Amino acid sequence: MSTRRSFIKNISLAPASLILPTILSADNNYSTPYKEGLIISTWDFGAKANEKAWEIISKGGKAVDAVENGVKEIENDPNNTSVGLGGFPDRDGIVTLDAAIMDEKGNAGSVCALQRIKNPISVARKVMDETPHVILVSEGAQKFAISKGFKLEKQKRSTVSDKAWKEWLKKSEYKPIINFEMHDTIGQLAMDKNGDISGACTTSGLAFKMHGRVGDSPIIGAGLYVDNEVGAATSSGLGEYVLKTLGSFLIVELMRFGYSPQAACEEAVKRITKKYPYREFQVGFIAMNKAGETGTFSIHPGFEFAQCRAGVVTNVKAGSFL
Ligand code: ASP
Repeated sequence: MSTRRSFIKNISLAPASLILPTILSADNNYSTPYKEGLIISTWDFGAKANEKAWEIISKGGKAVDAVENGVKEIENDPNNTSVGLGGFPDRDGIVTLDAAIMDEKGNAGSVCALQRIKNPISVARKVMDETPHVILVSEGAQKFAISKGFKLEKQKRSTVSDKAWKEWLKKSEYKPIINFEMHDTIGQLAMDKNGDISGACTTSGLAFKMHGRVGDSPIIGAGLYVDNEVGAATSSGLGEYVLKTLGSFLIVELMRFGYSPQAACEEAVKRITKKYPYREFQVGFIAMNKAGETGTFSIHPGFEFAQCRAGVVTNVKAGSFL
């Protein structure tokens, strides 16, 4: 009978290939990265962000500049109620914004619960490029933004947001609505003509959230993850479930070990639906790999992504678990 001690001894004498699960030795080497330019963004309104990103990529620009400027288009749209200062406020009536960016070198920057700054994605970019940190939150993020020349906007809600918030206050009932208005966070992934990948994600978060609540979008590995050797992923939907499963990181790691972007997105959704059988909420993922393949999957029908591949624009509906 083998004692624990002799078992450990035997293990240490065994060749490494017998001890390590095969999966740990697997590594995808995409020898031919896609170099025609590829951009994908969550939801149909991502098409506008793709247009801007394509202007940069088609001229040989970098993916990181493309995604920053791409999602900024949506932040600048005062009529978008889930991204930027036009976004629905929290339950105290305050609009707080989250954003994250990751470049091809694995650098990352993010801001959480930022108030009164029009372009949180550009603040996140500055956190990435000009500080030794990854995340700045709330007043600290705002102070940093002002120090970098960002304008402090007035504390106000758009007319539409103000009306929706006052309506919500009547019941003050917190219940996420599936595919809320059919558009949410913008997450954008881009691969430039050098074959380098970057990603960005920006949101006003869940409408009528508790003040101070931060979702998945600005958390590296949850709402966004990029590994230039493998691919990238981003998400939209009820961030709490993406946070608890680190969905974007999971997708990239699955792709590293041979999953297609589609299979990886499906697996990430299944992790959520298996662990949390209460499924009355939406989560959707999009992903791309280094070879230029894409994937998307969501819990409920209704999720989609906008694509620009070598300048050709399409919209792709996600398959869904339910
Ligand atoms: N994922 C975002 C959050 O939880 C919201 C969304 O995409 O609808 O903050």
